[in-house]
Amino acid sequence: MSSLLFSIFLNDLESYLNENDCDYIFVRDHTHMHVFFKLFILLYADDTVLLATSISKFRKIMKEYENYCALWNVEINFSKSKIMIFGTQRKNVQFHMNNIELEIVKEYHYLGITFTKNRRLIQTIKENTAKGKRAMFAIITRAKNEGLTISCQIHLFKTIVLPILLYGCEVWGFEDVGILEKVQIYFCRHILKLNKTTQKNILLYETGLIPINILVKCRVVKNWVKIMTGKTTKYVRKMVECLLVYYLNTEHKSNWIHFIDKTLTENGMRNFFLNPYSYRHDEFTLRLEDQFHQEVNNQLNNSNRTLFYRAIKAKFGFEEILDEIKPPLVYYLMKFKVGNHKLPVETGKWDQTPHNERYCHHCIEDIGDEFHYVFLCPLFSQLRKKYIHPYFYNRPNMYKAALLFQRKNRKVITRLCMFIKIIVDYFNEGYRY
Ligand SMILES: [Zn+2]
Repeated sequence: MSSLLFSIFLNDLESYLNENDCDYIFVRDHTHMHVFFKLFILLYADDTVLLATSISKFRKIMKEYENYCALWNVEINFSKSKIMIFGTQRKNVQFHMNNIELEIVKEYHYLGITFTKNRRLIQTIKENTAKGKRAMFAIITRAKNEGLTISCQIHLFKTIVLPILLYGCEVWGFEDVGILEKVQIYFCRHILKLNKTTQKNILLYETGLIPINILVKCRVVKNWVKIMTGKTTKYVRKMVECLLVYYLNTEHKSNWIHFIDKTLTENGMRNFFLNPYSYRHDEFTLRLEDQFHQEVNNQLNNSNRTLFYRAIKAKFGFEEILDEIKPPLVYYLMKFKVGNHKLPVETGKWDQTPHNERYCHHCIEDIGDEFHYVFLCPLFSQLRKKYIHPYFYNRPNMYKAALLFQRKNRKVITRLCMFIKIIVDYFNEGYRY
C-alpha cells in the first residue's frame, strides 16, 4: 500500500484511540502553560508505532488498534510487528494481537536508527561503521583495479562513505564517534600508504578531510536550529522546547540538548543556544574548522619531527600535482615528507638520542634529516646534480626547499621523487646503492 493510501486510511486512527479511552503519553508543555499533548501513536510512511507507559495501558491500545484494523479491513503484518520495552527488564510478559504472540525485541530499527532498551544510540553508530567500511573497501578495491587517482578516491570517500557514516547523526551525534573517526583515518593512511606512526592530524591534513566529530557537531547544531526556528505549531518543535525547559531548570538532562549546549558554549557561541534565531551556520562551521587548523598547527609547532614537514607543506588538503606522479614514486614522497623513513633523524628516536645529536653517519657534524640529504650531504652529490636544479642546492635554505617541494610541475616533482626514492632506499636497505 502506498504511503498516501495509508495516510488516507488511517486518518482517524488517533481520534478513534482517543474516543475509545486509550491512555496516552502525557507531555507537559512548560512554555505554553495550557497546551498539552496526547501522544498515542507515531505514523511515518506505512509504519505505525503504538506507545504506552504501562503493560495494561499498552494491552488496551493494542486491543483498540486491532479493532480499528478489523473495522477498516486493514491487515497487520505480524511478522514485522515487534514490541520493545524501554527501561526496566520485564520477565514473563506476553503480548497478543489477533491471538498471535508478538515478539519482544531488544533493539528495533526505525527510520534508519536502531533503538535499544537503554535509550543509547551507539548501536546505530556501530552499524553505520560497518556499512561505511564496506563502502570504503569497495572504493579501495575499485581504485586498485581501475587505477583511480588519489584525488578521485578522496572524492569518492566524501560523497559515498561519509554520508553513510554520518547517517542520522543529527540524532545520535552526542554519542562517542571514535569508531567513525577510525574509519576515516584508516582510509587516509591506506590511500597515502603511510604507516601507523603517522600523526592522525597529518593524515587529515594531507587528504583535506575534516575530523568526523566536527562534521557531526555542525549537523547536530544545524538540525537543532532548524527545529527551534521552525513552525511553532510543529510537534517536533514543541517536544524540543519541552526538553529545553526541562534541561534549563535541571529537571531532566537530555544528552542531546546537553551536547548542543556544550558544543556552542565551548566555541564561545552560547548566545546561539539561547537564541537560535541569531544562529549563523557559516560562522559556526568556520569556528570549528579554524580550531582544527589551530590544533594541528600547535601540534606541528611543538614537534621537532615535523620541522621539515611544516616548511614544505603549503596548504591544507591534497596536492593535486601528486595525482600526476606515478606510483610507487608518489608514495616515496609522501613517506619522506611525514617521516615514515629510516633517516638518522627518525632512527635516533628509537634509542632516544636527543634530536640535536642525530648526526648523519657520513658527515658527523650535521643532523641526518630530510633537508640534509636532499640538499647538502656529499654522499648524494652526484645524484643530486642529476635530479635537482642547481638553484635549489646551491646555498640551500628552507625557503628554497619549500619552493622545490611546492612546484606544480610534473617533471620537476617526478625527478625529485626519483631522488628521494634513492635516499629512502639507501637507508631502508642498510646504506647501499
Ligand atoms: Zn651527510
